[in-house]
Amino acid sequence: NSRRLLDRQEAIDSSAVAYPNDIPLAFEEGKGATLKDADGNVFLDFFAGIGVYNVGHANPYVNEGVHAQIDKLTHTVDFPTEPRLDLIDKLDEIAPGSLAGNSRFVFGGPTGSDAVEASIKLAKYNTGGNGLLAFRNSYHGATAGAMSITSNKKFKKPYAPLLPDVVHAPFPYPFREGRSPEESVDRALEEVRAIVEEPYGGLTDPAGIFVEPIQGEGGVVVPPEGFLSGLREIADENDLPLVFDEIQVGMGRTGEWWASEHYDVTPDVMTTAKALGGNGQPLSGTMYHEDLDTWGSGDHAGTYRGHVPAMVGGLRAIEYIQSHDLLDHATEVGAWIRDRLRDAGEGDPGLGQVRGKGLFVGAEFVDANGDPDGDRVDAIQEYCYEHGVLVWTAGQYGNVMRLLPPLVLTQRQAEVGTEVIADAIAATAP
Ligand code: PMP
Repeated sequence: NSRRLLDRQEAIDSSAVAYPNDIPLAFEEGKGATLKDADGNVFLDFFAGIGVYNVGHANPYVNEGVHAQIDKLTHTVDFPTEPRLDLIDKLDEIAPGSLAGNSRFVFGGPTGSDAVEASIKLAKYNTGGNGLLAFRNSYHGATAGAMSITSNKKFKKPYAPLLPDVVHAPFPYPFREGRSPEESVDRALEEVRAIVEEPYGGLTDPAGIFVEPIQGEGGVVVPPEGFLSGLREIADENDLPLVFDEIQVGMGRTGEWWASEHYDVTPDVMTTAKALGGNGQPLSGTMYHEDLDTWGSGDHAGTYRGHVPAMVGGLRAIEYIQSHDLLDHATEVGAWIRDRLRDAGEGDPGLGQVRGKGLFVGAEFVDANGDPDGDRVDAIQEYCYEHGVLVWTAGQYGNVMRLLPPLVLTQRQAEVGTEVIADAIAATAP
């Protein structure tokens, strides 16, 4: 059945459809941290729709609310509804640091890219500037503005020119750079400072600093201490909004509500999407400090500023994560998975580094010369699929195995899934 569906898809769907490898997979049903394919095979889901299903597939508490809302009312443009206001209140309650109690929230629409566009507009509107400082190895989305601040040329080249005033500074990646964490941070911050402050630095009229607090698509790149706080300082000294893209790493993924909380650094603006809609309902938005709430009525408008059932989904997902202590659970289970993967890589020169926070896990593979080894990760992914575990990849060279399972993954499921991954690592060892 999976083969039949894939053949049918190939015949009629866009050639842009992305499919990871040669194993035919089409899904029919999900429950918690498992997915059933069209042939009845059950898989452990360690990628959760790229971090969408933080509360698990078909979460009964979330689904109940969403079903009821679909029968009641689904769309009101910007007219107030209880779910809309309840979700905004809830997000303000769980906002990081000094944003809590002082935030505003603008719904973006269905995708993360929508929220990123809003954050770019907000930064420009408030500063009157044009220049956007972003980072190498970053991913922010597929619309024109979001693509402009994304660093990977592969996504941008055919569509140039995009936004003109964008400069990418180095994002600290000590493992790839072969530098110490301190050197890597110093080098990155020095360049950021030059771009913002020095007359020949690159941005004449900066509007904001845009960064993923932990890079996702770039390969689960966890910056060392000192980087985000350094950006905070530079932003403050230059009166620039600091914008954190929490689309992949927020909503509890890393064991805190927002990845920025691991570093005690509060952004002025923050984007969220993916897991925000609770059960895969499309929903995104941009949270910002109330001091930046300068837009006039209708200045950032659109038809789909949020689907009411998705708002119920988001609200219920947050309540579910709170009532089931899933942040602590993600912290514990994620740490266990990383330890187990490190054990599995013992004596294997190809497993360069295991990293992450909470249930956001990356394992970077290299070849005998220390260069990125994407083929190994493809082979590991294929082995895992054949043995019932869905894992994902990341990194500009596809050489990082990325795990982002639902936060409801049980310790037992983590053990079973990680055993398969450990076997895959052993089976593909050089
Ligand atoms: N920002 C980040 C950090 C992301 O990981 C993504 C999606 N992978 C996006 C933005 C774009 O979100 P979407 O694909 O929903 O437009």
